[in-house]
Amino acid sequence: MDTALLVPAALVFGVLLGVGATTLFVVAHRRGQRAVEVVTPRVPDGVDALIDSLESVGIVLDASNNVLSASPRAIAANLIFNDHLVNPELVDLVDAVRRTGEPASEELHLTRSRLGEQSLFLLVRVSRLGSRYILLVGDDRTEAHRLEEVRRDFLANVSHELKTPIGAVGLLSEALESAADEPEEVRRFASRLTREADRLARITAEIIQLSRLQSGDALEKAEPVEIDNLVRQSIDHHRVQAEAKDIELVVGKRRRVSVIGDPTMLATALNNLVANAIQYSPEHSRVGLGVSVDEGVVEIAVTDQGVGIPAADRDRVFERFYRVDAARARNTGGTGLGLSIVKHVAQNHGGDVRLWSQPGSGSTFTIRLPEASDASAVTTGATG
Ligand code: ADP
Repeated sequence: MDTALLVPAALVFGVLLGVGATTLFVVAHRRGQRAVEVVTPRVPDGVDALIDSLESVGIVLDASNNVLSASPRAIAANLIFNDHLVNPELVDLVDAVRRTGEPASEELHLTRSRLGEQSLFLLVRVSRLGSRYILLVGDDRTEAHRLEEVRRDFLANVSHELKTPIGAVGLLSEALESAADEPEEVRRFASRLTREADRLARITAEIIQLSRLQSGDALEKAEPVEIDNLVRQSIDHHRVQAEAKDIELVVGKRRRVSVIGDPTMLATALNNLVANAIQYSPEHSRVGLGVSVDEGVVEIAVTDQGVGIPAADRDRVFERFYRVDAARARNTGGTGLGLSIVKHVAQNHGGDVRLWSQPGSGSTFTIRLPEASDASAVTTGATG
C-alpha cells in the first residue's frame, strides 16, 4: 500500500549510511526560504538535499521533536510551525515509533492549518533515522479522497434521482389499472405517467451525455461552428417556451465568428442556458443572447431578469444534481444536470463558463470559447 513512501524513506536511509551523522548545520525551511543555523549535531547534508528534493511530505526530527529538515510540500501543507509539528496526530505517531523502535504507517486525516479550515489526508510512514533522528514521509491522498467522494455522491444521487420517477411510474400504472372504468381518471393518470416517463428519459439522456463528456471523446467530431448560427438555432428552439410566458428573446449583433467544436454539444450547452433563463424568469420579462469577441476568446452570454442565484449557491449550481430549490425544481421537471453539462462542454472545448447573478434582478451565464483561427476554418472548409 505504501510503496510511495518506502522509496523516499529508503533513499534517505541510504544517504545517512553513506555520509555518516556528523554535520553541524540545521536547515529550516520557512515558506520557500532556507535558514541555516548552527545548533547541535545534525543529520548529514545529503539527507537535507534529499528531503529538499522530495515532492511528497518529508520531515526529519531530532530527539526533542525539533524539525531539522522539511520538504517544501511539508511546509506548504502547514504541518510545521516554529520548527515543531503542528498536528498532535503526527506527534503521537512519532512518539510511538520512538517508544517501540518499530516503523509505523497510518493514514491520518489532518486539519491543514492551525485555523482548522481545510483537511488533508496523509498516508504517513514514520521510522527511526539512525539512533537519534526520526524520519517522517507522507503521501498526500486528499485528491484521491475527494474523487472517491465525488464518485460516491454521484452514484447515490443517480439512484436517488431515478428512484422517484421509477416509483411514481409503478404507482401510476397501478392507479391506471384500478381506474379503468373512469375515463376522466384514466386521462389524469395517463398524463402524469407521461410526465414521469419524460422525466426518466431526460435524466437518463443527460447522465449519458455527461459520462460521454467526461470520457473525453467529445471533440472527436470537431468542426468549425458558426456562433451566429448556434445562437439563431437556440432562439428558434425556445420560441414556443418563451411565448408561453410572454418572454421576449432579444439577440445581439451578428459577430461572424467560429469556434472549433462539436456542434451538437455546443447547441446542447447553449440550449440548456436559454431553457434555464426562461424557466427561472417571471412572465413578461426579457432574455438576451449576446456574442462578443475579445483577443481570440468568443463569449456567448445569456442574460435573464429572473429570480437570480444566491451567492452561496453560485459555485455549486454547476455540480451534478445541484438545485437551488430542489422541491421547486422537481415540480418544474429540472434534473440539476443542465449546468453541469454546460460546464463540461465548455471545458472540453478549451473554455469555461462564468456566472454573474443578483438575486431578484437576474443572472448572466457566459460561455467562453477559444475563437477558431482563420487557418483552421480554411483547412476544414468552413464558410463565413
Ligand atoms: P435544472 O435542471 O434544475 O434547471 P441546472 O443544472 O440547469 O438544473 O441548474 C441548476 C440549478 O441552478 C437550478 O435548479 C436552478 O436553481 C439554478 N439556475 C440555473 N439557471 C438559473 C437561472 N438562469 N436563474 C436562476 N436560477 C438558475
